[in-house]
Amino acid sequence: MRTAVVLIPGDGIGPSIADATVRVLAAAGAEIDWDVRLAGLAALAAHENPMPDSTLEAIRRTGVALKGPLETPVGEGYRSVNVALRKTFDLYANVRPAHVIVRGGRFDTVDIVLVRENTEGLYSGAEHYIKVGDDPRAAAESVAIITRTGSERVIRYAFDYAVAHGRRKVTLVHKANILKYSQGLFLEVGRRIAAEFEPRGIAFEDRIVDAMAMNLVLHPEVFDVIVTTNLFGDILSDEISGLVGGLGLAPGANIGVHAAIFEAVHGTAPDLAGKGVANPSALILAACMMLDHLGDGARADRIRAALEATIRAGHQVTRDLGGTATTEAFTDAVVAALRPPASATSDAGGRRLAGSRDRRG
Ligand code: NAD
Repeated sequence: MRTAVVLIPGDGIGPSIADATVRVLAAAGAEIDWDVRLAGLAALAAHENPMPDSTLEAIRRTGVALKGPLETPVGEGYRSVNVALRKTFDLYANVRPAHVIVRGGRFDTVDIVLVRENTEGLYSGAEHYIKVGDDPRAAAESVAIITRTGSERVIRYAFDYAVAHGRRKVTLVHKANILKYSQGLFLEVGRRIAAEFEPRGIAFEDRIVDAMAMNLVLHPEVFDVIVTTNLFGDILSDEISGLVGGLGLAPGANIGVHAAIFEAVHGTAPDLAGKGVANPSALILAACMMLDHLGDGARADRIRAALEATIRAGHQVTRDLGGTATTEAFTDAVVAALRPPASATSDAGGRRLAGSRDRRG
């Protein structure tokens, strides 16, 4: 059955990596009807609005979108379009898988999925200046809001993910030793949910964020699924993508109850825009997470295998991976590496939580 998905090509390198992704999915036989919509600078130019209602309405209708990077116009009055999308659709879980593709480096065995709370914490937008004497900006206050409901749903997502993907351990990262109320609440909820999942074979540990930052570079191989609050997740997920080859390989999924938006973690790469040399891997991997989400996991696995084989072969890789290939030549190589499905019917995988390779079996 064909599925309608909103495609937002985005700004900068967005349109070229979106083209590459659409090509790879078509070559793999994905049955998707793309509903192409604008957001970001492209939408500002066409509709004088970086987040047109028609785009929001299309996402509301389909419930699924694949999004290229967006440039938020500089200047007063423009909120980040990405943050606005998360808020509009209450996309509470940001899922960022990272694993090593080319072995032989320092971190051969990294295979981590970070689940970041995406709507609360220091990003809830509760900020203001405090006037003291004549100075209206003598101080500033940003409030980190952590709710029991918000913590519960994202931590539960991380545990459900671990079960669905045959993973063994969830590490909850916090700063409850200092922020005893907000971070303490997150940890308390985590411990309760962990007890529920223990009989299902999921181990649990908690780590303080500063120690975690160090442990990730010393012993990343001991981590499996990580769940944490918004700001810590933002920082640690970039640290983790640095362990496995950089932003050009980092996909992300933003999951809500009624909608899910899949994207590359990187931005619009203005330095590469229009040159045809961007690495499309992150968006292709994000599209694989989308296929997982749509119940087409076997096809997602085939595409991931072709992409990884192309990167490992190293003949047709883009500059950021040490090669000289253009976006188009790299995409050609991925398409050529796609294997046919094992049988005509084996491509319909079961529904799975969007993520990285499945460790079951
Ligand atoms: P960036 O991710 O665009 O670029 C950082 C560096 O990584 C650059 O050197 C760039 O060339 C390189 N890079 C990024 N993607 C690459 C790819 N696919 N292939 C090869 N190299 C790649 O970050 P930035 O320069 O800080 O931000 C540029 C713009 O992107 C800003 O307007 C920012 O707001 C926006 N942004 C958007 C998103 C999003 O839409 N999700 C995320 C981050 C930044």
